[in-house]
Amino acid sequence: MKPGDALVVIDPQVDFCPGGALAVADGDAVMAPIAALSAAFATVVVTQDWHPAGHSSFASSHAGAAPFSTMTMAYGEQVLWPDHCIQRSAGAGFHPAVIPAVDRARLILRKGINPAVDSYSAFFENDKVTRTGLAGALRDLGVRRCVFVGLAYDFCVAWSALDAVREGFGAVVLKDHARAIGMPVSGGRTTVDVAEAGFAAAGVVLG
Ligand SMILES: [Zn+2]
Repeated sequence: MKPGDALVVIDPQVDFCPGGALAVADGDAVMAPIAALSAAFATVVVTQDWHPAGHSSFASSHAGAAPFSTMTMAYGEQVLWPDHCIQRSAGAGFHPAVIPAVDRARLILRKGINPAVDSYSAFFENDKVTRTGLAGALRDLGVRRCVFVGLAYDFCVAWSALDAVREGFGAVVLKDHARAIGMPVSGGRTTVDVAEAGFAAAGVVLG
């Protein structure tokens, strides 16, 4: 790790781990390794998906919509998820094994608070225009490169890493400290393939 590096831990929450409302397979396996890794970084940031009840990204908010289907919103296509990470619910809490990393965090950034717009990325809401404030905070802290870990690799980690580059930061994704949802998309590909094509095009380094 270099001066100017920040560890950005994406959504290490109970609902994204096995047994949770939007479980990522094997997601709990990365929590203790992330906690250990965080000790090597002077700057640690943790994001927390933090939705109001009835959020527009929930399938339950749209009559007849099934979880994991897609819907066209005013800001573009949106996957509709099971209800998850509702503010102050147990599922929105951090996984117990990652707490040492949360304790070291200079900043806990909550996202997905806007009822009408989801936020996969730590930097922008899904309209790709509304900023979360993270880029300015990182610049204030002298951060030049972000190292991303957490959940889910092909959604919130990927969108955050791509937006880090867009904001002028170097971006590294540690794949062994992340786990993917892996939804099928057209052409026999998955959301993992889409994410990794995006990484290659943008210069995100896979570590
Ligand atoms: Zn969410």
